[in-house]
Amino acid sequence: MSDIIINKTDDIEYLQFNKLLEFQEDLVHAYTLKTHRIGFRRGGRNYTADESYNKLCIALEINKAYLVHPDQQHTDNICEYNEEGSMSLAKVDGIITDLTNIATVLTFSDCLALLMYDPKNKVIANIHSGWRGTTKKIGQKAVYKMITDYNCRPENIICCFGPSIRKDHFLVNDDVKEIFENDFKDIIKENNIIEDTEYSNEKGKQYRIDTVLINKILLKEMGLIDENIIDSNLCTVCNSGMFHSRRTEGIEYQADASLMMLKKHKEDI
Ligand SMILES: [Zn+2]
Repeated sequence: MSDIIINKTDDIEYLQFNKLLEFQEDLVHAYTLKTHRIGFRRGGRNYTADESYNKLCIALEINKAYLVHPDQQHTDNICEYNEEGSMSLAKVDGIITDLTNIATVLTFSDCLALLMYDPKNKVIANIHSGWRGTTKKIGQKAVYKMITDYNCRPENIICCFGPSIRKDHFLVNDDVKEIFENDFKDIIKENNIIEDTEYSNEKGKQYRIDTVLINKILLKEMGLIDENIIDSNLCTVCNSGMFHSRRTEGIEYQADASLMMLKKHKEDI
């Protein structure tokens, strides 16, 4: 059985993970497709982010006022959204919360979405882990915060990997390759992370890097278990008809969105 399903309405398509749907009493989640002119990057031609947010909220039956979208900058800053209300969303690439009716939204164009959920303690983490976020180990930092600040046990945490640029298409030059070599010496020694290619560009020789595998290994180092790490196995470049891809779309690139929200039950009100 596949790990994902794709839902369609007349206005929007979105992907969901079967593992997270087991908890749909408590959790709303989605990763959007680009069909129906859905795109969440502001200012892009032929797409309007506002309309895309509207369509997503209607499809998921979410009040638009619940949306929380940080100003992502490929950092490892994670906002812990709590009742104090003083959280800054500037330069933030992940949101953790145990509050209901906080619809966390992050946007992606080839970068990797990590949708984390602890069904036991009811905590969500919506994380943007592009190659820079990967080198900064933002996924591990999210798990660490879930453990220390929300008493989560790592073996309870589910982490779903969204569509992203995958190894075959993630070509880099020596500058980026060296960053990975320095940051992940041990992981690279034991795993097939960096591969030579016959390609080169104006900056020289090109290599492939498996950023998805690094993210999986980093999560396992934190204590997540194999069966709770669910990969969509979708490459945004191979599937550029379904997902936005910065490398495919060029300067006018658009972005997909991941949304996670804990539901408020009637008896909680
Ligand atoms: Zn691909």
